[in-house]
Amino acid sequence: MNNASIAATKKLGGKAALITGGSSGIGLATARLFLEEGARVAITGRDADSLARAQKTLGAETLVVKSDASNLGQIEALMAQVRDRYERIDVLFVNAGIARAAAFEEVSEAQFDEIVAINFKGAFFTIQKALPLLAANAAVIVTTSIANRKGAPDYSVYAASKAALRSLVQSLGLALIGRGIRVNAISPGPVATPMFGRSGLPEELMQARKRALAEKSPIKRLATPEEIARVALFLASDDSSYMVGAEIVVDGAIGIL
Ligand code: NAD
Repeated sequence: MNNASIAATKKLGGKAALITGGSSGIGLATARLFLEEGARVAITGRDADSLARAQKTLGAETLVVKSDASNLGQIEALMAQVRDRYERIDVLFVNAGIARAAAFEEVSEAQFDEIVAINFKGAFFTIQKALPLLAANAAVIVTTSIANRKGAPDYSVYAASKAALRSLVQSLGLALIGRGIRVNAISPGPVATPMFGRSGLPEELMQARKRALAEKSPIKRLATPEEIARVALFLASDDSSYMVGAEIVVDGAIGIL
């Protein structure tokens, strides 16, 4: 087989993919898998050190951009860089997000604004600003969470931001399918990623929370980021050609308890 026919057997051969929040966790695992499947990949993140580590892992060919998902100017600058490198986007994985634990009465206005600005406003404008670059048969994938359908008393703003995303995926699924662009969501249950360490809980409490989630889960463990990446690959590729405005739950059945 020559290089061209090897590329053709890969699920994303010749495609250009932009993954926000690609420097860590689910986004990084997805970037690795998309590269293996023949895509040219761009990632974003907001932490310079983890972006530098990701560049090493993913290789010099990958476009790595420090870009704050909550900042419209930075989103526009990101799209200009992606256009200069790849000309178009075939797969847009809108995955950047944060979670912060806080009891309802302790949530400050600043915390509320930060979560909503990154998780919801950021996703909305990332898709809007990417639109001129999206190929006619592009796939847009948004990372929601099973928290968007359950009560999450210590993560009330996070859960609501993800419910807003679930709604957005349905609206944009309808708005964009006329152009051939498919918008879908992945709704993960608990995944073993650095996100747990960033939730604001002390280390001991965070480890206890992870153990409790694994114990409670019917599958008795957290997901690996690679298990979510494989679902992202399905939604990114033509294998999911009839899926529009849908949300795939990947949660080891914890959500239906
Ligand atoms: P992670 O902390 O490992 O990765 C988050 C990524 O988002 C990082 O690359 C980070 O740099 C980026 N990011 C955060 N804020 C950003 C900003 N303002 N601008 C640009 N990039 C920013 O976490 P993860 O678990 O891989 O999370 C990925 C997505 O999955 C998030 O949307 C999260 O809400 C969702 N999710 C995670 C879990 C879980 O249990 N880990 C469960 C459900 C949903």
